[in-house]
Amino acid sequence: MITEIGNRTIEQYRPHKEEVDVNKPYLYLHEEEVQFDGALKTVNTVFLTNKECPFKCVMCDLWRHTLDQPTPIGAIPRQIEYALKRLPKSSVIKLYNSGNFFDVQAIPVDDYEKIANLLRDFDHVVVENHPKLIGSKISDFKSMLSGTFEVAMGLETIHPVVMPKLNKQITKENFRTAVSFLRDLDIIVRAFILLNPPFLKSVEENREWCLKSVKFAFDAGVSACSIIPTRGGNGIMDHFEEVGDFIPPKLEELETVYADSLRLQKGLVFCDLWDLEKFSDCKTCFNERKRRLETMNLTQKVVPEIDCNCWDTGRIDHND
Ligand code: SF4
Ligand SMILES: [Zn+2]
Repeated sequence: MITEIGNRTIEQYRPHKEEVDVNKPYLYLHEEEVQFDGALKTVNTVFLTNKECPFKCVMCDLWRHTLDQPTPIGAIPRQIEYALKRLPKSSVIKLYNSGNFFDVQAIPVDDYEKIANLLRDFDHVVVENHPKLIGSKISDFKSMLSGTFEVAMGLETIHPVVMPKLNKQITKENFRTAVSFLRDLDIIVRAFILLNPPFLKSVEENREWCLKSVKFAFDAGVSACSIIPTRGGNGIMDHFEEVGDFIPPKLEELETVYADSLRLQKGLVFCDLWDLEKFSDCKTCFNERKRRLETMNLTQKVVPEIDCNCWDTGRIDHND
């Protein structure tokens, strides 16, 4: 039984890292997304290869595609160039780096200018960052950009018992302070919120705390929330699942809490569709339900539920 969840325990459970190439992003993709101004825009997302995040959250599996050493100067601009040569044009670019853009071991400060130069044709730039890594580097980088700037941060959950156990090393107040800091610099903020973090076991509690966390993030000043169904597969989460401390969410639970969050009408809400099939028990309706969520992501409106017999078993109460 795990008595203390710290970096060392989390690392002990990890399977091996993937082999990565420091001169190539490990993934890049082109899609459409509604932006903070309400417009549907094309987005290029580049998943950069860089030094592993110094925080070791229990639910994280992003370390799989990272380096153990600090990222060499020049590698990040090379990766961005590599992806942009292969992607269609877009208005928005997201640079997601399996960690924190303002972690200097991951993204060298000496590369900021080159990176900003490569981003000059984009109207809007989005990066991800930890709420504790705020400081003058953010305004320095923002001042080099020609378009608007957005920072995505994991709030994960505000549940008072679960939040400290995630090993993210933040409090609600840290998150609120980081949002105010960024908003004062005229930076747009989005939050990542988990559905079914470990240690929260009932369907009702998971729904309630996901929604409470979304509300908290909007009240703190974010423009958008992305709801992430918590996944196993990183070692320690599989252990928690085995001992009953982690209950992966079902697709219908994700649909319900996503619809509830959209109905709040407090800002944009997205539902993370990565590997969505993992959460579905029914092959008959899966594709339709995925399409429903895609439509809701693009329109920001709740659309009618999909009718399928599987909804009769274990269905939770909906208010449509
Ligand atoms: S801060 Fe983000 S990238 Fe770092 S360990 Fe936590 S979830 Fe993973
Ligand atoms: Zn079904």
